[in-house]
Amino acid sequence: MDCIFCKIVQGEIPSKKVYESELVVAFEDINKVAPVHVLVIPKAHYDSLMEIPVSETELIVELIHAIQEVARVTGVAETGFRVLTNKGRSAGQSVFHQHFHVIGGRDLDIKLG
Ligand code: 5GP
Ligand code: ZN
Repeated sequence: MDCIFCKIVQGEIPSKKVYESELVVAFEDINKVAPVHVLVIPKAHYDSLMEIPVSETELIVELIHAIQEVARVTGVAETGFRVLTNKGRSAGQSVFHQHFHVIGGRDLDIKLG
């Protein structure tokens, strides 16, 4: 499949890895919007959040754990950070392999939409 993030998982495209577990990997966004901007993704391909079956409990737990670990290793766990995911056209999703943005390291705008 021609997916940038699958290629990052396979090591075919380089990335600055921040955290990795059996089912999940986290790496720096190539176009950071803040000093800390990390993408947390399942290694398996899902087009978006909507395709992750809720029965995949191990994966879902690892995703939450990965977000916590990323916040710790990047130093934003105490200062604060934002987690967001864009699903589909209206939200401006541009890479169709599910990813959570973890953003922090500066005071963020309150604006959400
Ligand atoms: P979306 O717009 O889908 O929510 O977010 C996609 C994110 O992926 C963007 O923030 C973009 O900068 C990032 N991105 C796109 N291509 C690459 C890449 O090849 N490497 C990395 N590390 N990030 C990428
Ligand atoms: Zn993919």
